Amino acid sequence: MLYLYHRETRTKVLGPGERYVIWVQGCKKRCPGCINPEGRLEGQNGYWISTEKILAELKNEQGLMGITVSGGEPFLQAHGLAELVKSIKENTQLDIMLYSGYTLAELRAKHDKDINFVLEHSDILVDGEYIEELNNNTIYRGSDNQEIHFLSPRYRDFKDIIYNTHNRDLEFISRNGELFMIGIPEKGFEAKFKRAILERTNFFKEEEK
Ligand code: SF4
Repeated sequence: MLYLYHRETRTKVLGPGERYVIWVQGCKKRCPGCINPEGRLEGQNGYWISTEKILAELKNEQGLMGITVSGGEPFLQAHGLAELVKSIKENTQLDIMLYSGYTLAELRAKHDKDINFVLEHSDILVDGEYIEELNNNTIYRGSDNQEIHFLSPRYRDFKDIIYNTHNRDLEFISRNGELFMIGIPEKGFEAKFKRAILERTNFFKEEEK
């Protein structure tokens, strides 16, 4: 079981190819400029979901490349995460990409069997806290202090391309009266977004006159 903030069955902006994404609820860090502050609350604001349910949804989606686990902090739920990783590896060919506010060295230093299992059976880890000043629009990374670890050989040949791509996309899902953003925004995005909404609102007001 995992306690999630959100999940989407298909996105193109958080890892290679089209991917299923889960956002785990709860994080102990408080990075200034965190794009998901609602996802930091521990034990509230989320919902429980079983490994079986996630696996069934994964299998139901055609043409996925992998699953991305973001947060919140995925490794605060290491046991549930290990259960999910084991099930994905046993039942699919999908790759596994993880985000964590802890560095790889910090995770290994915990000497936790579930954490070690997850690291041994995943393909990519993007690690470290988010530092707003180092947000340079680098693909997959919120800020350039974060490192992309190629834990398996699967994407190692693409390392240079990935590290030299300074271009990110965002996706917006409008569903049941709510708007959800997927991806890592550029520095100062919130102010730009608010300004764009305001300009559009003013435009429509003028049109109505
Ligand atoms: S580690 Fe991630 S989720 Fe946690 S506070 Fe930092 S940016 Fe937010």
